[in-house]
Amino acid sequence: MNTLNPALNAALNADLHCHSVVSDGTLTPEGLAARAHANGVQLWSLTDHDEVGGQARALAAAHALGLPYLTGVEISVTFAGATVHIVGLGFDASHGAIQEGLAATRGGREARAREMAAGLAAVGIEGAYEGALRYVGNPDLISRTHFARHLVETGVCSDTSEVFRRFLVEGRPGYVPHRWASLGDAVRWITEAGGTAVIAHPGRYKFTPNEEYALFTEFITHGGRGVEVITGSHTTADFAKYADMAIEFDLLASRGSDFHSPTESHVDLGRLPPLPDRLRPVWETLADRVQRPT
Ligand code: AMP
Ligand code: MN
Ligand code: MN
Ligand code: MN
Repeated sequence: MNTLNPALNAALNADLHCHSVVSDGTLTPEGLAARAHANGVQLWSLTDHDEVGGQARALAAAHALGLPYLTGVEISVTFAGATVHIVGLGFDASHGAIQEGLAATRGGREARAREMAAGLAAVGIEGAYEGALRYVGNPDLISRTHFARHLVETGVCSDTSEVFRRFLVEGRPGYVPHRWASLGDAVRWITEAGGTAVIAHPGRYKFTPNEEYALFTEFITHGGRGVEVITGSHTTADFAKYADMAIEFDLLASRGSDFHSPTESHVDLGRLPPLPDRLRPVWETLADRVQRPT
């Protein structure tokens, strides 16, 4: 097969969801490109949270390895009182709508982090803000993940999932409710910049069936086109459930590891099962947006 020009079908080893040091991953865009390439990825996208600052580096590193690339981002959204993530693929990262929207979404993270640290201090964990900052690659993007790394490193918990469970989810002392972008705004920024919006890891939200139905229908009403079916955040039961929902709602299907770190992520880049071939892959419709190496 031509590696520079692979067929854009369901069998493609596409990995369209991961994070670098530009958000809450531990590898650089170059490190991720090398790892994706070594693991046999044939189409790659870096989807940092609320930030496109790593896109030029990711594209250059992918092309140096002969790896086709799609521009990516993962936008934090508040829907039905909960946080939902929307992945954008194949958009123009320099477009004003997405640049301004993402800057506004990032805006609030620092104040939120200081409140999180105050909540942790109230239960005897002092200095968590300064501690978390030591893990932050991008000062605009301090996240719960950075607090989790700090609490593991200082021996408060033995791994990051224990930190989330005990300290960083609703009802826990380091949790601070936050208002992110609206669903309609996030989908609009992506589509106005020429890209395709995808619901990230729907199996992770604790929605009732009615709320989930509302998420899918409102997303489509706003112009959203895809849903992640095969993701590192889904169980095998979720793979089947969201494959059915992709068909029911006539959505394009996406695939991505959601890789953050060699020591924290249980699914590596490019190592997920393929998309079921009864689904229409999102990359089939992005052929003219794929940036191919020359
Ligand atoms: P934030 O955007 O600051 O709310 O942080 C959200 C990030 O925290 C997600 O993108 C994941 O990387 C991470 N995360 C969320 N829940 C968990 C969990 N239960 N265990 C480990 N990491 C988590
Ligand atoms: Mn993350
Ligand atoms: Mn996510
Ligand atoms: Mn993610």
